Amino acid sequence: MKSKTASSWTAAQSEELYGFKRWGAEHFGVDSEGFVNVQPCSDGRAIRIMDVIEEAVGMGLRAPVVVRFQDLLRHRVVQLNELFRKAIKDEGYRGEYRGVFPIKVNQLREVVDEIMAAGKDYHYGLEAGSKPELMIVLALHDNNNRLIVCNGYKDDDYIRLALLGRKLGKKVILVVEQLSEIDDIIRISAETGVKPMIGLRVKLQTRGEGKWAMSSGDNAKFGLNTAEILFATEKLKAAKLSQSLRLLHFHIGSQVPNIITIKNAVTEASRFYCQLVEMGFPMGYLDVGGGLGIDYDGSRTNFESSMNYSVEEYARDVVHNIKEVCEASKVPVPDIVSESGRAVVAPHSLLVFEVFERINKRESLGQQHQPKEKHKVVQDLEALLRNRQKLGRLERYHDAVQRKEEAISLFNLGYLDLGNRAAAEQLFWRICEQLAKEARDSGYQPEELRDLHTLLADQYVCNFSVFQSLLDHWALGQLFPIAPLHRLNEKPTVNAVLVDITCDSDGEISTFIDLQDTKDYLNLHPLNGKPYYIGVFLTGAYQDIMGDLHNLFGRVNEVHVFLEPDEPNGFYIEEALSGSRIADVIEGVQYQQEELCRRMKAQIDAATRKDMVKPREGVRLLELYESQMLNKTYLNIEPKSGSRRRPAR
Ligand SMILES: *Cc1c(COP(=O)(O)O)cnc(C)c1O
Repeated sequence: MKSKTASSWTAAQSEELYGFKRWGAEHFGVDSEGFVNVQPCSDGRAIRIMDVIEEAVGMGLRAPVVVRFQDLLRHRVVQLNELFRKAIKDEGYRGEYRGVFPIKVNQLREVVDEIMAAGKDYHYGLEAGSKPELMIVLALHDNNNRLIVCNGYKDDDYIRLALLGRKLGKKVILVVEQLSEIDDIIRISAETGVKPMIGLRVKLQTRGEGKWAMSSGDNAKFGLNTAEILFATEKLKAAKLSQSLRLLHFHIGSQVPNIITIKNAVTEASRFYCQLVEMGFPMGYLDVGGGLGIDYDGSRTNFESSMNYSVEEYARDVVHNIKEVCEASKVPVPDIVSESGRAVVAPHSLLVFEVFERINKRESLGQQHQPKEKHKVVQDLEALLRNRQKLGRLERYHDAVQRKEEAISLFNLGYLDLGNRAAAEQLFWRICEQLAKEARDSGYQPEELRDLHTLLADQYVCNFSVFQSLLDHWALGQLFPIAPLHRLNEKPTVNAVLVDITCDSDGEISTFIDLQDTKDYLNLHPLNGKPYYIGVFLTGAYQDIMGDLHNLFGRVNEVHVFLEPDEPNGFYIEEALSGSRIADVIEGVQYQQEELCRRMKAQIDAATRKDMVKPREGVRLLELYESQMLNKTYLNIEPKSGSRRRPAR
């Protein structure tokens, strides 16, 4: 019976269910055999992600693994630049686009290298937000037409490094975020005799929306208010550095969901820009910061996980609004800088992990427990299960909850034995399951009954750590699209939440994207004893670098995938990065591998002397301990077959 419904399910239905076409931006889809495909360049050439996983496993790189599609990254850089070019042309705008990539969003060398290569013809530059980032940026920067924008808190050395770049002819712009920085820049410029290029970050009144809205407004951490802007300009004049003021900068926060916010911010900043030009400063650049969003849930709305505009619309609105304000003020238009990070890198990579176990609240006990003498509360629950009184669903649910609570109280008072308590709990879950099943077939559901689906959801235990690989989900509840990578021509019949392998109850994913709002479980396939792979998509921004070592689960394996030019749907893995080994992570918290091994050896030797272990056994125990040092931190475990099923009723 089951196989009949399963076989009538199609890959297209899965594509719709998981929303591939909505959030996938023409890159992700499902083929007719039920595998997830990626089209890195949206041009028909497709890579089956499971093929990549198989190849990675063959190279010794098991999941959890981050898969990067380098061509997709390149595609995004080209797309952003081309869309700005197009907007500039269409609007008859007399300035250029000079975007920079903020490397804090993903500093990995292969990522930054790819972006630099893709942005070469566009003079696409780099942004640094700290000294270590500036160290990278200065060395990688190769062409003086590319900008370097320096944000973040700055000490003297940071400023000296930026001026070193100026000495080499680079267009390094120091963006003043705090008034005190202007004094430091003036002083160090005088000391070194190097003329800086300076930008001012303005605190706009236009407020962002969504999770990262605190980057603007009066209480923002960064930026100068109107009086401070004027103060800064006076200081520059007094220091005879008026000619150094070249850029106005704002950043209203990441993942701005609403295009109206962007239009307003651009207009407000353009007014500042024009006034500064009218005051006689050379200017030349207007930097609109980051904030360009990613439609993680594919709903195309101003919900915080979405965005109600396209990149094309964004580019057009930025160009149009700057032009309008400048024309009204009769000020020549600036070159436009933007610092889009998330929008450039998020889509190019995904996290893949394996489910190895299903935890099912109701089925884990197998057969229904039959106590020797049934307590009245158990009999009542049985009656509810059979629904002898023909009660309505909601009433039955309330009665069941009440009886279950009664059973627990009786147990605590010593009036109910273990057998009866087990029976009561099992009956309760069976009633819930029955109610949920009935509810599926009917229309409107009161909230309590709708929540039953969540209450009844299984847990799929997955070999990864939320804290290492999806920190924004844990910290901010950020949603990512999640779907199995295969078996998509089978109907997903299990409602499940995903739990990770950390010893932390927060280590889970229990909120998922949905077209309307969010949902509390994911539809997944029953486990069948073979590896079951789940992909978390659009994870290329921020997640790679922010992860931590909770429970000492370290960096995951990583593969970098390129399209194979001469094969229609071929690919090759250019680079494989092996994840952290146990020795690596424990050394990070100040234990020396050798020291720990020496201590273990001493204990095993002592145990051998006391005859607790045989000498031969002792050698084996030490070998076991030592060899683990070189293993990965994640579980080395085979999938368990599907959870035990109750016989069909
Ligand atoms: C973080 C940051 C960015 C990148 O923002 P996205 O929303 O990822 O594009 C750009 N500029 C500044 C100043 C930032 O702090």
